[in-house]
Amino acid sequence: MNIFDTHAHYYDDRFAEEYPGGVKGAIEAALSGGVSHIVNIGTNLESSKTCLALSEQYPTLYVAVGIYPHEATYEDMEATVDALRQMLTHPKAVAIGEIGLDYHWDDVDRETQKIWFERQLCLAEETGYPVVIHDREAHGDCLDAIRRHPKVTGIFHSYSGSGEMVKELIKLGWYVSFSGVVTYKNAAKTKEAAAATPLDRLLIETDCPYLTPVPHRGKINHSTYLVHTAAELAAIKGISTEELIQAAAENAKLIFDLL
Ligand SMILES: [Zn+2]
Repeated sequence: MNIFDTHAHYYDDRFAEEYPGGVKGAIEAALSGGVSHIVNIGTNLESSKTCLALSEQYPTLYVAVGIYPHEATYEDMEATVDALRQMLTHPKAVAIGEIGLDYHWDDVDRETQKIWFERQLCLAEETGYPVVIHDREAHGDCLDAIRRHPKVTGIFHSYSGSGEMVKELIKLGWYVSFSGVVTYKNAAKTKEAAAATPLDRLLIETDCPYLTPVPHRGKINHSTYLVHTAAELAAIKGISTEELIQAAAENAKLIFDLL
């Protein structure tokens, strides 16, 4: 198997609870367990930097650098953007993320989130990198934001919008990524969205240590569990799990420019 996990957070302390080697133990278990590629996703300057350092130790561990909506607390925005721009020159940096809008929590107010999202979309336009979008209960505003930047494309990660919105994203040239959520019993809307996503625009991800798929719920999520997410998506698409994994990996290589 050649699973491509397009969204992981292999720097979280929680991995140490289940993996004796901590984060490195978890990464090594993935890379020796059927997972060929991982994109490790930063949420602020510090975690982005950690991801870059780790990527130097594993040839197929790549990185997205960015400021997550609830991490948008830096006083000097331009200095922060300069730091991201500098990090993007690293050979293992493949995307800007995760960035976006999260209206579920209000740690950072919506206006501030929007300003940081907009600024990082401009950075994507300037540098040509794809973006990884976190959209939680902010579908309309996320769509408006990407429509303002028609040259920018990327991924809606752990997709939670409607099938209708999928059609719109596809028209705009975007990719849609599904996490373990699609395996949950109450995830009818997500399954519908997966059915609406063409196979050549579909990606798979863990968002580990979060969003563990059935049947491993209760454990810390891990890239090797992606096979369950892939099996669910394959059933929706009426193809084999192997075909789904293959197609999703090809799509990931295309969007992250790894072909
Ligand atoms: Zn994430």
